[in-house]
Amino acid sequence: PGTLYVVATPIGNLDDLTPRAARVLADVSRIAAEDTRHSARLLGHLGVNTPMMSLHEHNEAQRVDTLDGYLLAGENIALISDAGTPLICDPGFVLVRELRARGRSVVPLPGPCALITALSAAGLPTDRFTFGGFLPAKPSARRQTLEQWQCREETLVFYESPHRIVHTLEALCDQMPDRSVVLARELTKTYETFLQGSPASLRDRLADDPNQSRGEFVIMISGAPKMEPSDEQTMSADELLAALLAEGI
Ligand code: SAM
Repeated sequence: PGTLYVVATPIGNLDDLTPRAARVLADVSRIAAEDTRHSARLLGHLGVNTPMMSLHEHNEAQRVDTLDGYLLAGENIALISDAGTPLICDPGFVLVRELRARGRSVVPLPGPCALITALSAAGLPTDRFTFGGFLPAKPSARRQTLEQWQCREETLVFYESPHRIVHTLEALCDQMPDRSVVLARELTKTYETFLQGSPASLRDRLADDPNQSRGEFVIMISGAPKMEPSDEQTMSADELLAALLAEGI
C-alpha cells in the first residue's frame, strides 16, 4: 500500500511551506484538501497540478474507504487543510485514526501551526501550556470554559474568531483580571501584531483601534500564580487525621 502524508501548509506566508512539503505535494497521486478551491491557490503558487479531492468535517467518514482504496492500489496521498497543520482544529482525525487502525503508513510533514508559532514569540512561559482549541461561541459556555481553566498554572492558549475577541476579553476582565494576555494576530502576514497587557488594557486597545480586531487570532493567557507552599495541601492523610482528632472533630 501507499502512504498518507499529513502535510502542514502555511498560515499566511507562502514561503513557509517546506521544500519537503512542496516535493511531496508534487509527487503524490492525489491531495485530499479541506477546501479544494482554497488550496488551488497554494498549488498554483507552487506550479503543482496534482488532482485534489475534498475532505472536510461533513464527508470525512465517507472518504476513508475511498482513500484507503487508493492506498491499497499503491498510490501515495497527501492530506492538507486550509492552513497550518491538518488535524489541529482541522479535519483529518477520523481519516488518520482509521488508516492507522488498518495498519497503513501515515507520515507527518511538520510545518506551520498557529498555536506553536504564537507561543514561540509571545514571551509567556512555554515549558507547559494547555491548548483549549476554539473557545465556545456561546457566552455562557465560553465563561464556563474559562472558569474550568482558571486555576491552571500553565499558559493557556486558544484559537479565537475576530467576531468574538472583544467578548472574550470582556469575559477575561471579569474572570481573570490580573493575568497577562497576549494576542497574536495575523501571524506571518503583513499585519502581524503581538499585543500584550491585562484583559482590560487589551479590551480598551481594541475599542480604540478596530483594525486590531480584524484577522485571525491566537489568544494566550498567563497561568494562575503558583500557590505558596503554605497554601498547599502538604499534610499526609495520617497527619490530617491526627490534626482533626486533636481538634476534637
Ligand atoms: N490547523 C491550523 C493550525 O495548524 O494552526 C488551525 C486551523 S483553525 C480552523 C483556524 C484558527 O487558527 C484561526 O481561527 C486562528 O485562531 C488560528 N490561526 C490560523 N492562522 C493564523 C494566523 N495567521 N494568525 C493567527 N491565528 C491564526
